[in-house]
Amino acid sequence: MAKKLLDALPMKGKRVLMRVDFNVPLDENGNVTDDRRIRMALPSIVCALDAGARLILASHLGRPKGARDEKLSLRPAAERLARLLERPVAFATDCIGPEAEKSVERLKPGEAIVLENLRFHKGEEKNVPLFAEALRKLADLYVNDAFGTAHRKHASTYGVPSLMPKGTRAVGFLVRKELKFLGEAVQNPDRPFVAVLGGAKVSDKIAVIENLLTKVDRLLIGGAMAYVFMVARGQTVGKSRVEREKEEKDGSKTDVIALAKHLLGKIETSKAEVLFPVDHLVAQQPAADADTDVQGPEIQDGWVGVDIGPETAQLYCERLADAKTAIWNGPMGIFEMAPFAEGTEAVCKAMAKMGEHGTAVVGGGDTAAAVEKFGLADEMTHISTGGGASLEFLEGKPFETIEILDDA
Ligand code: ADP
Ligand code: MG
Repeated sequence: MAKKLLDALPMKGKRVLMRVDFNVPLDENGNVTDDRRIRMALPSIVCALDAGARLILASHLGRPKGARDEKLSLRPAAERLARLLERPVAFATDCIGPEAEKSVERLKPGEAIVLENLRFHKGEEKNVPLFAEALRKLADLYVNDAFGTAHRKHASTYGVPSLMPKGTRAVGFLVRKELKFLGEAVQNPDRPFVAVLGGAKVSDKIAVIENLLTKVDRLLIGGAMAYVFMVARGQTVGKSRVEREKEEKDGSKTDVIALAKHLLGKIETSKAEVLFPVDHLVAQQPAADADTDVQGPEIQDGWVGVDIGPETAQLYCERLADAKTAIWNGPMGIFEMAPFAEGTEAVCKAMAKMGEHGTAVVGGGDTAAAVEKFGLADEMTHISTGGGASLEFLEGKPFETIEILDDA
């Protein structure tokens, strides 16, 4: 079900609380070093201001863990927003309480205020009702445009909208775009539907593989992820990077190889065509000047896998060429080092090419960085900003923070 979009809210003269993602990197002097996240929120912000909203922007920044930390103030983000909008933006030194309330009272239609970091209060991440109520008091209408935190039931993402009546809660343009491409593409894709998965953090992606297996026509596996499956199969991987166990939050350890074995069983019975690398680029060390070789399907003792091999790259590109929908998460090798970037670049180019006639979706922080590096960001249909949120979405988990918002 599509969600109500902010432009369907009666915003004129109303106090609109918009949850945005202004979690921007700051240098030691508190300067915003990359304002991409602020710029990406501009369409929703401008839409609200043009509609005459009294706009209240709320975000977290970093992990202050419920205590005030001036190094993680959102003031620099508010200043950057003012510069981008070319109009003044107010700032409240606390996100709740008398100061915030007074500043919001002073707002005129078409004006914006940024609230101080939500996570300076413990109530945000714990979704404490008193804190949620204090935030909710500031606003008549609610907009969620922060996809990156949509998988977390915090006060600003869940507590506040759950306290507000029907007809007052909408998504912003960014969240709508994520829902459209991650959600609709996965639920109802044009076929062939191909997923390319790689990267290093395999444990985070096991559930994604499991869910996509039931949906895709083809699954292509590369990166260090492939080595985990090789170990699970009893193949040799030399000195390659293998995530054997994952440390859980409670200190317990999960056996990743056992999870991979379990998945191999599912792959056997799945209707999807699942491909693993037939060859690998290997090096003596993971260093740009190391001696290299191509080996496959196994990696010999003493060698480190650093990229998919040329035959695999060609095979994966062929299997992507006729796709109508493709999702790519996780680089095919250590693309940060130029000699080991070829496999990732080949897949990136194949994605860009299929994006000319189909839907090419990219997720994952490092994968997005790779696409930027190869200068192909504009060729993709959608690059998800979500990180953890996009992975959870690809796991097929419903997001309660989105479900609670009004339907269109
Ligand atoms: P994303 O952030 O896109 O979800 P991950 O964080 O899972 O991706 O993995 C990205 C990292 O995986 C990159 O830093 C890359 O260098 C690393 N990687 C990919 N292939 C290999 C490999 N064969 N050996 C070691 N590291 C690898
Ligand atoms: Mg990463």
